[in-house]
Amino acid sequence: MAAPVDLGGQLVSHTASIGIAIADSVSSMTDSDILAAADGAMYVAKARGRNKAVLLDEEMRAALDDRSRMELMLREALEKDELRLHFQPEVDLRTGRLLSVEALVRWQHPDRGLMAAADFITVAEETGLVLTIGRWVFAEACRQLSAWMKEYPELPLVVRVNMSPAEFAATDLVEFVENCLLVNHIPGDRLCIEITEYAVIDEPEKTAAILRGFREIGVEVAIDDFGTGFASMTELKHLPVDLLKLDMSFVTGITTDAYDRAIVESIIRLGDVLNLGVTAEGIEQSDVVEELLTLGCHRGQGYLISRPVGPEELVPLLSAGRVPLSLLRPAELTLGLASTTF
Ligand code: C2E
Ligand code: MG
Ligand code: MG
Repeated sequence: MAAPVDLGGQLVSHTASIGIAIADSVSSMTDSDILAAADGAMYVAKARGRNKAVLLDEEMRAALDDRSRMELMLREALEKDELRLHFQPEVDLRTGRLLSVEALVRWQHPDRGLMAAADFITVAEETGLVLTIGRWVFAEACRQLSAWMKEYPELPLVVRVNMSPAEFAATDLVEFVENCLLVNHIPGDRLCIEITEYAVIDEPEKTAAILRGFREIGVEVAIDDFGTGFASMTELKHLPVDLLKLDMSFVTGITTDAYDRAIVESIIRLGDVLNLGVTAEGIEQSDVVEELLTLGCHRGQGYLISRPVGPEELVPLLSAGRVPLSLLRPAELTLGLASTTF
């Protein structure tokens, strides 16, 4: 497979990820069970860095069984309308002013209770269910935003929606987004789509074309978990992107780890140079807020400010339009700052 092939004068080489499953004489596996098992092993090979062969073992088989159970349940969840949207606010760390809310999908599971996206989104991505889920999320986020725009006409609230790379495969994606905006009377700039660096790395051309489509209809684009996927600076320069979201793993470490601090600092500089907004996610401590402000990043979200909450729990914040500053800086710090300014 690795040997280069001459395609009209251009040498093209490929790698192969191979999954192997063995049916012994005592097992009751059917031919399609064996194929499904080999398919699962192939995904393991891909996840382990591709270009290798993986033989399915018991542990993998158990994980696959879990996954197919989850897939079945998730299909049912869609039919039974068990998905919900929660929203996590992003604020200006200097003033506490509300800037946006990020829509995060939740599954109101009949037995397991409310499940976070992290608990099921990977299965949704691997099985293609993320396409259906993504459309539901998008339509619901627009419906909610439209209701908020009527209720809080003075609030310049932006709603952010996450999109998986798999969703980019649909040829009508931009059209779908545009239609949702039209139906709900939402101007494009009130919506921001969050994509991961992986979408950029895996298929730069296709991603760029879709992002240009979003820009044409005025929708903003943010790169989520920035810093984890090694997107190249050159790619970034040519992409119609508006915002970088600093990944939580670096944000958490900025007060204690020189390496994390250096990464955060260089991404903030990069944002400055490329004229992109930079926002920090996963802020849990007020000393992180101080450090971010010192480094020149003044937008952020995280549990310190608010966990993702249902629309009804968001009402006080939407009415006030800001979080109290005391939430971001404990009293002694605010005092300290006041005296320095004085
Ligand atoms: P993300 O977009 O980077 O979202 C941030 C995740 O971190 C969310 O988890 C959020 O609840 C959590 N988080 C936020 N602040 C903090 C904090 O201060 N501390 C800690 N420990 N965690 C924090 P969640 O909702 O489980 O989502 C996980 C990922 O699933 C998201 O990462 C996003 O990539 C994906 N996702 C969520 N909703 C959707 C969706 O509607 N569609 C798609 N395609 N992906 C989604
Ligand atoms: Mg996100
Ligand atoms: Mg993130």
